[in-house]
Amino acid sequence: MTPTELGFETLAIHAGQEPDPVTGAVVPPIYQTSTYAQEAVGKHLGYEYSRTANPTRTALQRCLAALEGAGHGVCFASGLAAEHGVLNLLDPGDHLLVPDDAYGGTYRLVAKIHAPRGLAFTPVDLGDLAAVEAAWRPETKMVWVETPTNPTLTIVDIAAVAELAHRHGGLVAVDNTFATPYLQRPLDLGADLVVHSTTKYLGGHSDVVGGFAATNDDERAEQLAFVQNAVGGVPGPFDCFLTLRGIKTLPVRMDRHCANAAAIVELLAGHRAVAEVYYPGLASHPGHAIAARQMRGFGGMVSFTVAGGEEAALEVARSTHLWTLAESLGAVESLIEHPHRMTHASVVNSPLEVSPALLRLSVGLETAADLVADLHEALDRAG
Ligand code: PLP
Repeated sequence: MTPTELGFETLAIHAGQEPDPVTGAVVPPIYQTSTYAQEAVGKHLGYEYSRTANPTRTALQRCLAALEGAGHGVCFASGLAAEHGVLNLLDPGDHLLVPDDAYGGTYRLVAKIHAPRGLAFTPVDLGDLAAVEAAWRPETKMVWVETPTNPTLTIVDIAAVAELAHRHGGLVAVDNTFATPYLQRPLDLGADLVVHSTTKYLGGHSDVVGGFAATNDDERAEQLAFVQNAVGGVPGPFDCFLTLRGIKTLPVRMDRHCANAAAIVELLAGHRAVAEVYYPGLASHPGHAIAARQMRGFGGMVSFTVAGGEEAALEVARSTHLWTLAESLGAVESLIEHPHRMTHASVVNSPLEVSPALLRLSVGLETAADLVADLHEALDRAG
């Protein structure tokens, strides 16, 4: 059977992970080596130096590419390194559209690293196609999409943005970190590139940092692999092994993340201390219909504002016991954080600044009733 005929769960366990040809090991070994013996100059088994290629990384790249329905995939040392790889497809003088509520680190990478080197960019509400059209310039080469966004869970219609961008000759790159390929496959919806922080749901256990970029275009894939090797921001073999191990359970984890998130949203929607709940699964969410169309489930991330403002939000964040106050997301344990002072501190005083009353939850896999009870108690303290 070809990868396109196999189910997602099968691919998560087997794609790129045939038994080791040398020993028969069922799990791809951690090839902890920097270099490879050559029989004669230039005569080798496909591996010369581990910045360029490493068999454990190859297994991970093949697996992730299969999950995204991509012909090519390239792994990086972090999600931001993967984003940097994709942004390197652009040249000085080009123009990029970014979401007006992009992940803070993405905004920082564009504004502080690429813009000073000649990349022009405009933050735009990607939910407003007329605004995207109006922001488009002759030199616009790419739209950066994030959906759902971090931290306000905005939904962007990937197919509609891809149609618009392609009409103008531009590319669409989608940060699929929040959804994962299990819930959403951007390339199938018309995107040209997909990127991940594999640190999050793909790794799934808060024990590894990594990134990934994929495409179906041979030339762009070659460029990405060139950047991977030339810049050298690659993951080590042990990190690739951990990520591969996490991926095997991605489908079952995502189903439970979605179910637990729905229980938390029900609590938040009915609590007096909560002003607004951001979750694409809510019928009242402006992107609900699009999310229902382009996603298999609504995910495990939930954000909300606290009616009492910043002080009350900080009180909730420090009052939970089961929910750990920490950055990052997408792992088995539930996390709570204050984006304004933590993950999104880098966008304070920028057009992307988030409300100081906002809290972000990464709903984990603990017993739903325990998560509800702990958060309920913390919310009661705030009002
Ligand atoms: N994209 C999104 C949506 C994120 O949430 C993050 C990190 O939080 C990143 C990219 C960056 O990933 P990393 O921390 O692995 O560099």
